[in-house]
Amino acid sequence: MSQPGDRTYDLVGVGFGPANLALAIAIEEHNAQAAPEARIDALFVERQPRFGWHRGMLIDGATMQVSFLKDLVTMRNPTSDFSFLSYLQDRDRLVDFINHKTFFPTRTEFHDYFSWAADRVSHLVAYDGEAVAVQPVAGDGGRVAEVELVLRDGRALRARNLVITGGLQPCMPEGVRQSERVWHNQGFLTRLAEYTGPAPKRWTVVGAGQSAAEVTEYLHRTYPDAEICSVFTRYGYSPADDSPFANRIFDPEAVDLFHGAPETVKRRLFDYHRGTNYSVVDMDLIEELYRRVYQEKVAGVERLKMLNAREVLDVREVPGGARTTYEFLPTGERVVLDSDIVVCATGYRPFDALGLLGPAAELCLRDEMGRVQVKRDYRVATDPALTAGIYLQGGTEHTHGITSSLLSNAAVRAGEILGSLLAGRVPATEALPVH
Ligand SMILES: Cc1cc2nc3c(=O)[nH]c(=O)nc-3n(C[C@H](O)[C@H](O)[C@H](O)COP(=O)(O)OP(=O)(O)OC[C@H]3O[C@@H](n4cnc5c(N)ncnc54)[C@H](O)[C@@H]3O)c2cc1C
Repeated sequence: MSQPGDRTYDLVGVGFGPANLALAIAIEEHNAQAAPEARIDALFVERQPRFGWHRGMLIDGATMQVSFLKDLVTMRNPTSDFSFLSYLQDRDRLVDFINHKTFFPTRTEFHDYFSWAADRVSHLVAYDGEAVAVQPVAGDGGRVAEVELVLRDGRALRARNLVITGGLQPCMPEGVRQSERVWHNQGFLTRLAEYTGPAPKRWTVVGAGQSAAEVTEYLHRTYPDAEICSVFTRYGYSPADDSPFANRIFDPEAVDLFHGAPETVKRRLFDYHRGTNYSVVDMDLIEELYRRVYQEKVAGVERLKMLNAREVLDVREVPGGARTTYEFLPTGERVVLDSDIVVCATGYRPFDALGLLGPAAELCLRDEMGRVQVKRDYRVATDPALTAGIYLQGGTEHTHGITSSLLSNAAVRAGEILGSLLAGRVPATEALPVH
């Protein structure tokens, strides 16, 4: 990796999850057909030692919540050989997958697809590279046309454009900290593999979203002697709305309309359709969990417990376990529940891109609510003094809508960011079309 002054990249990317992987592929495909001077010199840094997509939640049997056709490329370039179908052919499973008649592969299989694609563009990635700071590089007249990305090990990369992903950060209930016996579901399988204590007799899972339901289902089937308590404030799990008209909220056209809409309309559209993604569970999984609860009732041994309408007030580690205090909302009764381990499946928040940007963040324009202004091409609107491009993939729900942190639009967004980079770099007449 280069040191300051060595080399200036056209683009340096922070994070190498599916969003920046999709962009790396778009760049790779562009470079393969572009004249040398029109190629994009890019490098992505990833803090993990190798590619990994939510490894802690690769629960066997868990399926994708998005059609395999919304892979890394197909919506941008259906002829790309980085598609999920090309991967299947390469793995000699195409015909088997077709016979399977599903649009929703397992997450384990999609992880393998992502890893296959990541390996093919590994020359564009520096693993074990955690970005910790961004330093503006002052140029002529105080203009900042380049920035330096500083990594944890002190190395630095200079770039004319930065694209920041970072992904989702785990969110714990207020005042609750992760510990040996109190986990967030993000690292679930990893922590489970590391756990060396006595076999748990009772698990508590906090939350009512897809991850909470998946963890509950997994624990129930994996620990046949343990009680699994699922604690949540809703009356019951709510089904994810994946109906076809509602699904249009993920369309590229919806991003256009959302971006141009007034703030009040954005809010309303988001609220109407939050049930496509937030705090909802696949109907199949809801029915499976209900079936198990009912069968246990029939058998007279109830170890899967749905503690609904309960608000968690506190979770803390106690000797040999973890203690959850909750309030039963209809009566206000407070109850203490002791378990061996508590898994908080309590959601995520976007990566703090502005925190990473440091002094450069002061040159990023904000809206009246203090949120960063992001243009349609995902480039942050900046003070004229900052001419280096800062792009965001993720953390743009307020400007681009619900697809911001999802896979649905990753391929198209990658093409749009590449188009923007090319438009800013060469005269428009020379720019190659982006598929
Ligand atoms: C369990 C789970 C299942 C999901 N399933 C679906 C689904 O089926 N469909 C869907 O549309 N969405 C799904 N999502 C939403 C998820 O956000 C997207 O799938 C996807 O991960 C977004 O890609 P990304 O690249 O933006 O973020 P991420 O995949 O989170 O990747 C970000 C990367 O940045 C790296 N990173 C972070 N900070 C730094 C740093 N400072 N320096 C260097 N690297 C850094 C991280 O290690 C990570 O590899 C799921 C989310 C979870 C948690």
